Amino acid sequence: MKADCALIDPSVGEMDTPEVHHGDSSGDFRTLLASAPTAVYVLDGRRFHLVNPQFQKLTGYSEEELLEMDAWGLLPPEDREVERENASRVLRGEPAAPYEHRVVTKQGETRWVMENVVSIPYNGGRAALGNLVDITDRKRAEQKARECEERYRRLMELANDAVLILDAETGAVLDCNRKTEDLLGIPVHDVMGMHHTQLHPQEEAEQYQKLFQASVQSGKGTTTNSVICRRDGRRLWADVTTSVHDVGGRKIVQAVLRDVTERKNAEEELRRANECLEQRVAERTRELQRSNEELERFAYVASHDLQEPLRAVASYVQLLERRCKGKLDAEAEDFITLAREAAERMRKMINDLLAYSRVGTEGRDLKPTRCSVVMEYVLVNLRASIQESGAVITCDALPTVLGDALQLAQLLQNLVGNAIKFRRKEPPRVHVSAERRGDEWVFAVRDNGIGIDPEFFDRIFVIFQRLHTREEYPGTGIGLAVCKKIVERHGGRIWVDAAPGNGSVFYFTLPAKGIEQS
Ligand code: ADP
Repeated sequence: MKADCALIDPSVGEMDTPEVHHGDSSGDFRTLLASAPTAVYVLDGRRFHLVNPQFQKLTGYSEEELLEMDAWGLLPPEDREVERENASRVLRGEPAAPYEHRVVTKQGETRWVMENVVSIPYNGGRAALGNLVDITDRKRAEQKARECEERYRRLMELANDAVLILDAETGAVLDCNRKTEDLLGIPVHDVMGMHHTQLHPQEEAEQYQKLFQASVQSGKGTTTNSVICRRDGRRLWADVTTSVHDVGGRKIVQAVLRDVTERKNAEEELRRANECLEQRVAERTRELQRSNEELERFAYVASHDLQEPLRAVASYVQLLERRCKGKLDAEAEDFITLAREAAERMRKMINDLLAYSRVGTEGRDLKPTRCSVVMEYVLVNLRASIQESGAVITCDALPTVLGDALQLAQLLQNLVGNAIKFRRKEPPRVHVSAERRGDEWVFAVRDNGIGIDPEFFDRIFVIFQRLHTREEYPGTGIGLAVCKKIVERHGGRIWVDAAPGNGSVFYFTLPAKGIEQS
């Protein structure tokens, strides 16, 4: 029975304690125990013989209750085995080291104690002297710390990204999660202690060290898109977000690494594809420019060279007409008239074509040009058709723009000329205006003529495209193509808004920048 009980073997494990006798000198011993700062008891078998006030305070039982009770009643069942082992060590005379166990108080509370037991001579025999220190607070703090650590670990491991904790002072890895191992291909225990710059290519180490130090100094985190080197030599792209923290007086840096290699590769591919596309567009544009220039040159040369033989044909036909007048039959005379008219039409077409090809090749430098003055010149040029049609032309104040005065005149003349030409029965009314919109002037030439079906809005700006026969309205179909070319040479756009039978408005823009309006 005695041997069973924790801490006690009155016969072994002697210590140099003066023999205590129940009765005479036990009073001194009792006084000694009472003044002890820790909880102390003397136990024989499973019975307490002496308990000091600290022991009573610790257990919550009074002295009488303790002296009455079975000592094991203070131990939770799960700790009794440990107690038994300890007892047998004492029994074998081995030095029993202080050990931790729990005590259940009278109030049912479990408290942790550190106990040290020795065997002492007592009452002619031996008894166990136990000395207990309450370590519940320390144990609870340890438990809390353990829980915190577990929570922290769980959080680290739950993260979808690699998380590294770095020492702010040395830049060495203090801790990391499993994802780090996956990302770097380096076992966690090898990552520990690595310097943060070792995660990056060697040639970039200095740059990352500077960034790290600046971040620690300012206490502000950083977000970078960085190259990460795996142990197998592969390089990854990662978004690295760092934050600086003060943990218990120690500065640490938390780095979260997210693998974005796939996204980065896709971006890179897209960038390359774009570059390729841009290159092809540029090549194509150059090709188009070249072929346009060739065409222009061809149109110019062709029209220029055609003028000469055509002039000859026209003058011979005229000569024939004059000389043979009255000598040929009516049909032959008709043929000659038709040939003359055709030659005249062709002369007009060639002239227009020449004008078209000259917009790019013979344009003059753009200079500040007063559009109101240009407009006056246009009205003088169109005087005959204005009078003949009875047209009323009105015009707002027009701005000064950077332009080629001759080409701007040609542009306005073509538009106002068309507005008069494509009229309905009533006399044409044409209004020319300009309005500032942001960085440009928007000009408008509005008429009350026959209008245009929206279906043909684009077509009419293409060379030789006409919507009417020569008999209905004369023309070569080059006028608007010339307008477009002039506007584009000046850095503007041209378009039309109209409805059949309801008049048309031709708009064009010219840049307003770089010109002070007077
Ligand atoms: P042209 O006047 O020699 O026919 P343009 O290139 O100037 O050639 O015009 C092309 C076509 O656009 C014209 O044939 C006509 O059908 C249409 N158009 C141009 N201006 C007007 C307008 N103010 N009103 C109606 N239709 C127009």
